[in-house]
Amino acid sequence: MGPKRMPGDVWVEREGNFVKLLRCRTAEESIGDVTTRQTVIAAMARVHREVIDAEKYVKHPSDCKQIEFLLLPYPDNHSSYDENMEVELKMENCVSIETLVKNVGQVLKGKFFLCRTITPSSRIIGVDAGVEDPEGKRAMRLGLFNYSLNAKMGKSDFEAVLPLGTMLIVKNPVFKQSFDHSPIHGLIVDNPGDVEILSPKRMTALFPGVQWKSDLPNESRVLLKKSLPFWEFSPAKSDLEIATKLKNVGNKAFIENRSTDAIRFYDVAAEYLPDDEEEITPAVSTLLVNILSNRAAALIKLECFNSALICTGKALGINNGHVKAIYRHAKALIGLGRYSEGGEFLDEKLTQFSSLGDDILRLRSTVPELLKPPGKEIIRALLSLRPMDCGHPQKDLPVGMVDRVPEFRGHVQLKKSKICNGEGLFATQDLEPGTIILVCKPFAGLYVNPQEEKAFRESTTTKQFLVGVMANKIWLDPLLGHDLYALWAGPELKTLTDNEDTKMTKVDIARIKKICNFNFTENVVDKEDYDDDEAEAEDFISCGVWIPVSKINHSCIDANVMFVHHDSTLVMMVTTFKKVKKGEEILMSYIDPFLPLEKRNFISQGAFICKCRLCELDRSESRALIAKRDRLIKSLAYDPDTNLYPSHPCLLARDLETIAEVESLRAASPDLNFAMTCPGIYTIAAVVLLDQRRYVECLSILEKIYAVVENVPTSCMHRAQAEIILICCMRMGKKKAVLEKWTEELRKYCRLYAGTLEHVRVGRYPTIPEDLKKFGIEFFNDTD
Ligand SMILES: [Zn+2]
Repeated sequence: MGPKRMPGDVWVEREGNFVKLLRCRTAEESIGDVTTRQTVIAAMARVHREVIDAEKYVKHPSDCKQIEFLLLPYPDNHSSYDENMEVELKMENCVSIETLVKNVGQVLKGKFFLCRTITPSSRIIGVDAGVEDPEGKRAMRLGLFNYSLNAKMGKSDFEAVLPLGTMLIVKNPVFKQSFDHSPIHGLIVDNPGDVEILSPKRMTALFPGVQWKSDLPNESRVLLKKSLPFWEFSPAKSDLEIATKLKNVGNKAFIENRSTDAIRFYDVAAEYLPDDEEEITPAVSTLLVNILSNRAAALIKLECFNSALICTGKALGINNGHVKAIYRHAKALIGLGRYSEGGEFLDEKLTQFSSLGDDILRLRSTVPELLKPPGKEIIRALLSLRPMDCGHPQKDLPVGMVDRVPEFRGHVQLKKSKICNGEGLFATQDLEPGTIILVCKPFAGLYVNPQEEKAFRESTTTKQFLVGVMANKIWLDPLLGHDLYALWAGPELKTLTDNEDTKMTKVDIARIKKICNFNFTENVVDKEDYDDDEAEAEDFISCGVWIPVSKINHSCIDANVMFVHHDSTLVMMVTTFKKVKKGEEILMSYIDPFLPLEKRNFISQGAFICKCRLCELDRSESRALIAKRDRLIKSLAYDPDTNLYPSHPCLLARDLETIAEVESLRAASPDLNFAMTCPGIYTIAAVVLLDQRRYVECLSILEKIYAVVENVPTSCMHRAQAEIILICCMRMGKKKAVLEKWTEELRKYCRLYAGTLEHVRVGRYPTIPEDLKKFGIEFFNDTD
């Protein structure tokens, strides 16, 4: 038990006890406290020693109150890029801790902060460490956000993420609070391109004569498992040995899925290799090719294919038979969608060198398939349904299949949109329902399986993570900015064009964050379908930003394509669900059109106002009319909680009149009469009337419901709708032509929703194919 703690207190650990520092201090005093070496070192040592993991922190918040001041939360404001942020690494642009503190809250554009870590690093939210400037009198907390996204407390060796004594250049530095009422200030960095690891060699070259005046603190040294801090090389080590050591640190990072760290260390390693051709020995040359080839592997993992290609190009320039470089060069070409070129390159190498190994042959064999639209096998796997009774994700794709899925674009082209100011996709020929328009992987995507979902959410959010992925991609492969920044970033930010070249290739966190918000798509399991405990236990994350799909404009009601993405591989597929004429704009519904106007209208919050037929009609209706419709629907005897309908002839007669009245409220536009699809009306038709063999009335209502649903993107309910109408028609003994028509509707929805006619077996009427045979209709036809 310690003294009573009050809000606003700041605590620091001294000799194992928590001591209150000060209370009611001025902002200046508070900043003074958090920039003393002792405070910083003690705070970071504690995080390191206790391996404070976010999980523990969230589970036992009361035990952890006292460490609150140790957390540097994710910043809630980010600066936009401008030209003044280009930094020249001259000593006159270098700022000290004193300058940063004097300019608290201000981004020092065009300046840089030269610092070195004086504590072990860790990660709770961002990567954290204590840093000093060369003067060594004061220190501050450094919070690197969007840095080493996959490093985890308790799992990663932070001496390999940001070792003790790492020298860093932080460009455009700002000393501030992460958010308004945060109790702690720190050097907050959110742009991965603003941080450079500085090798001792480059330090001497860039800043001759600059010395670190303090030694690394003993408190920090004793926490290291190794005797020598990372950057203290023994004088006997040659440049080649140092470069090899740094390359190995990069390799370790690559293996641990910390590809951005790997690239940082490969780059530092390369600094130790001579530029002068005369000094390049065979050993240097081998090491250089390995570094380039490994750097390419890390870039491929991050899907930075343009930059990967540059690395493999250089590596092959030195050694044109380097097997890994050949493999990665082809991988990068394929990643860029340059399939034929990738195939030709491999053919050339396979002719040139007799044995390049199985991996290369396997890669070559995927090329022909990539040049075609995805085949039935792939479509079925992408559309495979989630298990019915739990929130589990879809089955993984068969091994190796994801490499055979092409980035595909069907018969569509970008043109000036007819419904908004920007561009949109248009059909270049007539398209049948079920035509694939796009298949693509996300620019930034995230899949977290149910076992890891909780731990993931404790340290970050899905959108924060995706912003980090996008920022790192543009930092490492600036050409990718041209793709990402063409997306809508909200009304305040003008969409960048290719003419604004400088901004197009720079990391701009403020813009990336907006783009992420406006173009984010997520697979969500409807928890209402499962009982609470199970839903709690089985949750996964599957989300991302898909650039080609983001170019399709929205309409609640006149959408003609549907989009689905596979849970774990995040491959997205866009398919027509109605006929589309040549020249027609491709439209999709970003949100459920069955939601009421006020819920659909979140689109208008800062983005745009939907002017589709449904929204315009909804907006034109009087309050009285809307209230009347609601009242009529609520008056039905159906109980929405139990999904039951009391059987009583009087009630049914009354309700049929009510249904007729609901219908009359939008008689002029039956396809917009969404009220007809409410569960009460559906149950009365599809269950009650069908059971009572009142087929004429049943069919009449079902057809009215169908007029609405056939117009909206295919979901699981479409199959059920077509099924029940077909059942009704069969029982009525309708003509074969009518039965054929509804059979084809049912087939269409089975194909669209599950990719297979077998889907008919999962519904309430699994024997439909056998029933149809009695009418001379074969449900499973040859084409499927
Ligand atoms: Zn609309």
